[in-house]
Amino acid sequence: MPRRSRTSVAALAAVLALLAPGCTGIASGVRGTPGAAGLRDPYFPKLGNGGYDVGHYGLTLAYDPASGRLDGTAEITARATQDLSAFNLDLAGLTVRGATVDGAPAAYNRAGNELTLRPREELPAGTEFRATVTYSGVPEPITDADGSEEGWLRTPDGAVAVGEPTGSMSWFPGNHHPSDKASYDLVLTLPARVEGLSNGVRTARRTEPDGRVTTVWHTAEPMASYLATVAIGRYETGTATALGAVPVLTAVERPAAAGSAALRKEIPVILARQVKRFGPYPFSAAGAVVTGNESLDYALETQTRPLFPAGSFDRTTFVHEQAHQWFGDSVTPKSWRDIWLNEGFATYAEWLYGEEYEHVPARTRFERAFAQDANWAFPPAAPPAAENLFDPPVYQRGAMVLHKLRETVGDRVFDEILRGWPAKYRHANAGTDDFTAYAESVAGRDLDALWDVWLYGDGKPGKP
Ligand SMILES: [Zn+2]
Repeated sequence: MPRRSRTSVAALAAVLALLAPGCTGIASGVRGTPGAAGLRDPYFPKLGNGGYDVGHYGLTLAYDPASGRLDGTAEITARATQDLSAFNLDLAGLTVRGATVDGAPAAYNRAGNELTLRPREELPAGTEFRATVTYSGVPEPITDADGSEEGWLRTPDGAVAVGEPTGSMSWFPGNHHPSDKASYDLVLTLPARVEGLSNGVRTARRTEPDGRVTTVWHTAEPMASYLATVAIGRYETGTATALGAVPVLTAVERPAAAGSAALRKEIPVILARQVKRFGPYPFSAAGAVVTGNESLDYALETQTRPLFPAGSFDRTTFVHEQAHQWFGDSVTPKSWRDIWLNEGFATYAEWLYGEEYEHVPARTRFERAFAQDANWAFPPAAPPAAENLFDPPVYQRGAMVLHKLRETVGDRVFDEILRGWPAKYRHANAGTDDFTAYAESVAGRDLDALWDVWLYGDGKPGKP
């Protein structure tokens, strides 16, 4: 569990100062109310916040691997979606040093993972504003409902940040629900002996007067905060170009460097093959980060640059995480209940790749999955609890739904759906209802019988 946060003396003083008469926004004529403290996600009701929509995160981070201390400034550009008297950001642990809204000091206080900012002037609906939070401390990992660790994970030489589903609040304050996507700029300052990586395009690299090295990272396309990443360690980097113009940046921690060389070289080929199936690549950068950190036991589709523990940097896993760039990263779930739209598609991408390039028909993979009891624990569109979001039915039964769709509508229509879905919801959010409606519109017919059995049905059908 994330460490419970404390309200600092400075924060209390700031709150008291702004509660003094004459300091409310009522004088400006706006009668704002506080934004909601959560977006009522079915599994994480307090995740995300209401009342505003983030357009951009500017994160400036300095990290000291020896002490584990992170110093950060988050500059959040957002638009108020209601008359706002106060609004929340999600932040776990760490100490807030100060906050401003549009340059003026803002009162703030903390309760659990909620950081509340109260601007000096209320924010009328439609107003664009800039909130700045400075913070520091040693980030604590977050233990998921299923027992796995996420967030800012310390490694022997540095750290890796993995945010699915709630981990990003352990290293920067934000609207940490997948429905609020934004562009990012990240400035990362580190001791010269380690290398730092993040999402998107590396736009600058400079040595500071004190000898530390700063790299600057730009993510132009909207990104859900759970896909933001930082990797710090003794990485060797390599560059290539894919699809004619997309820069590919890979980074591997030294013990794993030799073993990963062949697959790293293959990345542009795999990307080109996926573009043929899924349509245009949705981002302006690509690559992979392979960490030697043994405490990370899963790969994650961090945007433009998926992250792998050394032991799982293999072709199948790469195909899976790379497919997420279309399914999950570009088309992002509206809520965590829609997670099968990520994992079902990425798993089916493995089956398709195996069929086309490794001579294993998707039907064979389907039948294997059908035979496994673990895949029938619950319907893919309705995981019973947060701890089940990454269980086998979400992946395997999710892929089975897509294979049954393919068998029902035929290869030609299915290919159209496979390319059309990420085109229709490119850089946006979509839910299960959006997908079933879209598939039916392309197929030109009702598919309720298919969804009832394979997507929503509790039991195992009589035959595959
Ligand atoms: Zn996945």
